[in-house]
Amino acid sequence: MPPFDVPEGDPFGPHNLPYGVFSRSGSDARTVGVRLGDHVLDAGAAARALASPYASLLSRPTLNPLLAAGRTTWSDVRRALTAWVTVPSHQEAIAPFLHPLSSVTLHLPFEVADYVDFYASENHARNVGRIFRPDSADSLTPNWKHLPIGYHGRSGTVVVSGTDVVRPSGQRKAPADPAPVFGPSVRLDIEAEVGFVVGVPSPMGAPVPLSSFRDHVFGLCLLNDWSARDVQAWEYVPLGPFLGKSFATSVSAWITPLDALEDARVRPPERTHPLLPYLDDSADDEDPYGYDLRISVAINGHVVSEPPFSTMYWTAAQQLAHMTVNGASLRTGDLYGSGTVSGPSEGERGSLLELTWNGRDPLELPDGKRAFLEDGDEVTLTAWAPGPHGTRVGLGEVRGRVVPGA
Ligand code: MN
Repeated sequence: MPPFDVPEGDPFGPHNLPYGVFSRSGSDARTVGVRLGDHVLDAGAAARALASPYASLLSRPTLNPLLAAGRTTWSDVRRALTAWVTVPSHQEAIAPFLHPLSSVTLHLPFEVADYVDFYASENHARNVGRIFRPDSADSLTPNWKHLPIGYHGRSGTVVVSGTDVVRPSGQRKAPADPAPVFGPSVRLDIEAEVGFVVGVPSPMGAPVPLSSFRDHVFGLCLLNDWSARDVQAWEYVPLGPFLGKSFATSVSAWITPLDALEDARVRPPERTHPLLPYLDDSADDEDPYGYDLRISVAINGHVVSEPPFSTMYWTAAQQLAHMTVNGASLRTGDLYGSGTVSGPSEGERGSLLELTWNGRDPLELPDGKRAFLEDGDEVTLTAWAPGPHGTRVGLGEVRGRVVPGA
């Protein structure tokens, strides 16, 4: 089948056009690719063939120059790409630059600047509260409904989908143990999240308001925030997550531009507490900041959960506003995770911590019981969003296999 004849209903049709970075077999040269069906378009080569003014921007080994170019350019490039893959005369010119996905290697699509991870799902936060603080009157901490809680993570260990994850070692100590022990984590977990990618930087001292979200954030990806629960439990008081998280964070190879997700915008859940002005999005009925993304979590090919992103209490716009309200600057390539996505039902929880209730109720998988991840387990997150005219916008996948430590 010719590459342009993407089957009706394909989640990677011309309505999607996510960006990545790829190399062809036998070459180390990385360049920007755009996915169409089960092919990748060498966007820089196509742009050169068509004498496009964006040829230079699309012929780079990372997406960072495109990210930095700003919203007007993002829209212009997307409009050009849409024409190239849909107008017959252009199709002919770019056909030589479409490569089957199976023939290319996908790389980390952008150079990650700072990495922040949030905690924006009320269902997740309440589940964690019930598991770790069973004696507290409220499963949420007193600040939870007033600000999007987050921490700064480690950008240097963000890896692309398909990268193996080495089981981390560290200290752990159960409350009843007399002293900590050192060794491979025995409670290795996942967190199903969505990552937001910052394009346009902001200067120090200039908070980014809610209304400027789309001027700074280029798009989103799927993100798996691998977590060693035993390491985390012993180290996190009083300064928060550290080595229990920093060993690896996996992202999908495709960055979906927010421009492809216009039909997926939804109002976030009802706010139960009044918000300070810089976080108050109650007047944004016509221009909601929530996204309807349907995530699926599979272990060794077996679906264990389907977390709905539309249930997230805090939006990516609020997270960006909060992250900069103290005057902290943004850099091109900043990545921020939404926090574990968990819906209200048991089958919608985005971590094994919640799915097995901290190991108490192991999952029954075709290949055995799982409380936490075992060596050899492969975790895959996939997702889609409603697109125009009843289509689906595919968000790709983030996949990683657990391998034993050295
Ligand atoms: Mn997380």
